[in-house]
Amino acid sequence: MAIILDGRKVARDIESEIAEEVKKITDKGNRPPHLVAVLVGEDGASKTYVSGKMKACDVVGYKSSLIRYDETITEEELLNKVDDLNEDKGVDGYIVQLPLPEHISVEKVIDRIYPSKDVDGFTPANFGKIDQEHHSLLPATPMGVIELLNRYDIETKGKHCVVVGKSHIVGMPMGILLAGPGDATVTICHIHTQNLEEHTRKADILVVAVGKPGLIIGDMVKEGVVVVDVGTTRVPDATKKKGFALKGDVEFATVEPKASYITPVPGGVGPMTIASLIMNTMIAYKKAMVLE
Ligand code: NAD
Repeated sequence: MAIILDGRKVARDIESEIAEEVKKITDKGNRPPHLVAVLVGEDGASKTYVSGKMKACDVVGYKSSLIRYDETITEEELLNKVDDLNEDKGVDGYIVQLPLPEHISVEKVIDRIYPSKDVDGFTPANFGKIDQEHHSLLPATPMGVIELLNRYDIETKGKHCVVVGKSHIVGMPMGILLAGPGDATVTICHIHTQNLEEHTRKADILVVAVGKPGLIIGDMVKEGVVVVDVGTTRVPDATKKKGFALKGDVEFATVEPKASYITPVPGGVGPMTIASLIMNTMIAYKKAMVLE
């Protein structure tokens, strides 16, 4: 039976550590870190993510602000807001929750965010520094995955890590983090990969970030594999109060018996992404306040 990689518990531990740090900072008379979230439109999943992020700020003692816009906001108006947040000395870090409405270029918005305030770690400058020793703000989800592995003493050095998915925010930075600082041998698979199972079966550590429930089944992994399921898809489920269930990309029932460690969905990577955001905000705050 696999050991469950309990992201919820680890995230709570991290939040307690950060809360202690915030207390020390404010006891000395400094202001607490301030995280701002910009939410455009009414996407249900986005609202849930943002509210989780704001709650985590409360738990650790950060100031948090939510700026909401109707989905009719123009690209220029949103870019102006980004400029304001960049210049606001009272804001240490901010996120623009994705996805954005189609008429707004995600690339333009992300390019405009000051890397020093980019606590999601999405800007090209922060992406380009992932592999550097003096990296600044790492992409939140891959950073959370590495932190989760570290906290369970799962070594990546010399391991064969297979990442399924190559998005800019999860798969690609995950691969770089594992191969760079993680010293692993990495295979990155994606929609055009042929014979996916030939690759996944070789994985000592398998990270899946696709968004297709049940993509990875027991036959596709080897005994003893460490499985990290990043996928979160809302699947209609009349038995649930909200009318949907969150599903990962990994078929838990058939993969778990072969795995040595596995993340649940929900309760695995999701809480770790929020914990990373909280850690990144502390890093941005310390740099801004010159507390390091
Ligand atoms: P994306 O749509 O940007 O990228 C999906 C990737 O999967 C692409 O690189 C594509 O090539 C690949 N892919 C698609 N079909 C495939 C197939 N059949 N075989 C192999 N590869 C395939 O998605 P994303 O933003 O990287 O997110 C991926 C999943 O992770 C989604 O379910 C998303 O909700 C979830 N996610 C979770 C968190 C979290 O905190 N838990 C954070 C970010 C994303």
